[in-house]
Amino acid sequence: MSSTDAILVTPGQKDSFRQGTVPVIDEIGPGELLLEVVAVGICGTDAEICEGLYGQAPAGHEALVLGHESLCRVVQAGSDATGFKPGDLVVPIVRRPCPERCPACAVGRWDECLTGHYQEHGIKGLDGFLRGRLVLDADAVVSAPAALGEFAVLTEPLTIVEKALERALQIHTAPGHPQTGLVTGAGPVGILAALLLRSRGLDVYVVDQRPADSPKARFVESMGGHYIDDTKTPFEKAGPAGGFDIGLEATGYAPLVFRALSALAQNGVLALTGVTGGHHSLDIDVNLMNSTMVLENQAMVGSVNAARAHYERAVQDLAGFGVQFPGLLEQVITARHPLADFAKALQKGPDDIKTIVTLG
Ligand SMILES: [Zn+2]
Ligand SMILES: [Zn+2]
Repeated sequence: MSSTDAILVTPGQKDSFRQGTVPVIDEIGPGELLLEVVAVGICGTDAEICEGLYGQAPAGHEALVLGHESLCRVVQAGSDATGFKPGDLVVPIVRRPCPERCPACAVGRWDECLTGHYQEHGIKGLDGFLRGRLVLDADAVVSAPAALGEFAVLTEPLTIVEKALERALQIHTAPGHPQTGLVTGAGPVGILAALLLRSRGLDVYVVDQRPADSPKARFVESMGGHYIDDTKTPFEKAGPAGGFDIGLEATGYAPLVFRALSALAQNGVLALTGVTGGHHSLDIDVNLMNSTMVLENQAMVGSVNAARAHYERAVQDLAGFGVQFPGLLEQVITARHPLADFAKALQKGPDDIKTIVTLG
């Protein structure tokens, strides 16, 4: 058994992250893959774990290896790991089924786990990917085309959007394709949501608080979308007259959630992907909200995590973005740091979209 550098954190303990080493099993079983980590995306969940707000170490361990949004390369494939060969790019699936194999997990829908005992790499009960090498079951990864290269590290955040959009479109069954999309928040999930909605042919409006000449605004405009600086013009005024058919909420800021709901069109659906802690009271006319939602066939739906099918779709869609929006994926990854500079990767500027840690 050898060892590999890793970023470790003691869950529940603020600023406990540090670089250390963890063992690597060199012998792999028939259905397993020995992987080297190429890159890991950093997001708000990692920051929350480092703040001690969240996270759970594997059973019997004091520390958790951080990192859940990853891209890996196959070093060695077990004899039964058919379809994989050394050099292949793969994206590990973050959430794994609960030990009870509840009815949802039993059919591969760990994202809808009924016991809550699911595990998540780098978050809950399973070590993550901020380490040089690891061994995984071949059925715990999806393949990524070589041509996608480093951009495949964006797969996991895109799966969040894939599932949210799927849920919205399961409800939005009114005749005619949805025409207009609203994305609240131009962070990584919001930017990927905008790309996905544009790729589906929607007229997309992205709302944030950065100025109209900021890189995020220019990014949205270069994909053919509309950027709205909500501090200057409320998006309810700057959007389409009839409202939005599909909304993807990526901030978790409750006042924005209800503004987005009230900006929906007839038959509109708002999918929520953002979580915020604490408490926030709002004065809302719930009679009006109820009447509007009933009379206009509107829906608001929450969406968390993703199943294998969303990973497979995300990999395909990323490849499609590369063709449809040349040069734009390059602008989604705004900062790269080596493992030794992990602390820098946690610091995010207002114009940053996705920061990644590069390993191999
Ligand atoms: Zn994440
Ligand atoms: Zn389950």
